[in-house]
Amino acid sequence: MMTLVVASLVERGVAGVSRSSKRAFDAGADLVEVRLDHIRNIDRNERLIHEARAAAEGPAIATLRSAGEGGRSQSKGKARHALLREIADAGFEYIDIESARDGPMLEQLMSSGRRSRTIASFHFAKPATKERVRVRLKRGLTEADVSKVAMPCENAAQAVVLAELALELAKEPKPFALMGMGIQGQLTRACASGMGSKFVYACLEGHEAAPGQLEIRTQTRLLDKDRVVLGLIGHPVSHSVSKPMQEAALRSAGMSGIYLPLDIPPRSMNKAIVDTLFDIGFDGLNVTVPNKHKAYLICDTRRSSAEASKAVNTLWRRRRKIVGDNTDLIGFGRLLESKKIRVADAETLVVGAGGAARAACRVLSDKGANVTVAARRAKPAEETARMCRGRHKVISSLRAPGESYDLVVNATPIGTAGTADERSNLPVCVLRNARVFVDLVYNPSETLSMRIAKSHGCKVHGGLEMLVRQGEAAFEIWTGISPDVAKMRQAARKAVSR
Ligand code: NAP
Repeated sequence: MMTLVVASLVERGVAGVSRSSKRAFDAGADLVEVRLDHIRNIDRNERLIHEARAAAEGPAIATLRSAGEGGRSQSKGKARHALLREIADAGFEYIDIESARDGPMLEQLMSSGRRSRTIASFHFAKPATKERVRVRLKRGLTEADVSKVAMPCENAAQAVVLAELALELAKEPKPFALMGMGIQGQLTRACASGMGSKFVYACLEGHEAAPGQLEIRTQTRLLDKDRVVLGLIGHPVSHSVSKPMQEAALRSAGMSGIYLPLDIPPRSMNKAIVDTLFDIGFDGLNVTVPNKHKAYLICDTRRSSAEASKAVNTLWRRRRKIVGDNTDLIGFGRLLESKKIRVADAETLVVGAGGAARAACRVLSDKGANVTVAARRAKPAEETARMCRGRHKVISSLRAPGESYDLVVNATPIGTAGTADERSNLPVCVLRNARVFVDLVYNPSETLSMRIAKSHGCKVHGGLEMLVRQGEAAFEIWTGISPDVAKMRQAARKAVSR
């Protein structure tokens, strides 16, 4: 099934429909959707319906979205039906009929032998179960030529449910369109073709008709065979700067594609979700807090860095098998090299015992450093230390005098902007005595711990370089191309300083 890009036109007058439809077709749209409910006085002046049809200079869908389903049309009952009949006479290629409101009208329209085909659409007001969406979609398939269901998505796991359903219905003889609303629903737009959706709705720049719609050119390019769809699985993901950074890499490599932040709560993170994302067309995924260990567990094959750290931050699929790597090790190694931090025989302290800490410990021990791991709980500290034959402590014991390290690495979220830990810092006695301090936190670019360490004459480095270099390694894995690191760094820096 070929997916068609439908440009939603939300104009107040007929002249606007004419102007915007030209722009939409120039940008690559296959059809335009004339949102008749947005045209002033349409409920009172039926002539405007015909004028709007003539103004849309190509194949068009007529939509009279009612206020109850997120539109502006106030007409109800007989008045609404009269308007729909008029719309059916106006020569649109498709008429969008609201399944819940216009059911009886649908039969009339389909049996009247008019030229327009029908789209039975249903808009959920809040996230619904797969079964409820299935019932609605199937009902639309019996009612009209195309069945369309839209559902708001609070997280990407809900959008993946829509994708699963689409894959299950792939053999339906009639076409359907299934879409998730909002940023977290965007994966259903980026992968509309992989989901088998007949239509995907897009907008002119700055004229979003529904939350999460992509701009027409972007949406059109996402239907190209060689486009690249990437994403970041985490919870939360709104703070991440990987999107601008990886999209800069795509642009500078001359590739079209998109990188989507996918909020997947830890309770929903499983192999089926990741498989579905690859099934509908994702080329690669990053994984961040708190899903890196779960990502490690669901892999069919793991690279040595993933095994060494028991964490995975990069996923891809080869011959239907999920493969995982932890490019944080490469990222941390490249950070040390680029800042000329020599660690052979150095006394090093890694604070934290999560995925990033394990990556740092592994790199440090491989480079010949003596490693001490400090965490707020003894057990994870001990387990992490065992992986690099290091010593372990609890953070509270670091307050003792005499703690002195050549290198201290913060691998906890302490100091991260927008979190409860933003105004916290590592114990001052550790920062005071360190020669070099590396904070893996990259937002803000200078944390409170970095300021304290600097004020005691310590050399400090933030986590941005590691972020860029782990991203560089992930990009190489997914695309086989070395990205422009300077462009990635510039984009990441700009996003952090926003
Ligand atoms: P993780 O697997 O969730 O581990 C977080 C670690 O920090 C755990 O040991 C946790 O201890 C500890 N922790 C959390 N809050 C703490 C607090 N208030 N005080 C003391 N310890 C605390 O996360 P991760 O992937 O290792 O990431 C850790 C940090 O590194 C994050 O801020 C992340 O953004 C950053 N990072 C940066 C890069 C980069 O490229 N720059 C790459 C990876 C990670 P408990 O187990 O007791 O909760």
